[in-house]
Amino acid sequence: MSQVICPKCGENTLDRLSNCPVCNEPLVEGQKRNEVRTKRVYYLGLVFVAGLVAATVSSLMGFPKLTMIFTAIGVIGLVALILKMNATN
Ligand SMILES: [Zn+2]
Repeated sequence: MSQVICPKCGENTLDRLSNCPVCNEPLVEGQKRNEVRTKRVYYLGLVFVAGLVAATVSSLMGFPKLTMIFTAIGVIGLVALILKMNATN
């Protein structure tokens, strides 16, 4: 769980709240950041899946070099995804 500081009263609040519990100031900044984070995790997941699928297809079609490249892309996507997920929690 991450926290955000209210821009109005400076109260330390959970960034999943939409409004500050003290002064009811909308915490839009924190929500925007969360959206960006979610999108990044989503794209990294796509990179991972696409890399794996492309590697499988390349392997089936007999392109060992392409298989290596796509496997590497998939692994990089997976590692980045795990790092991002850890950073989010
Ligand atoms: Zn506040």
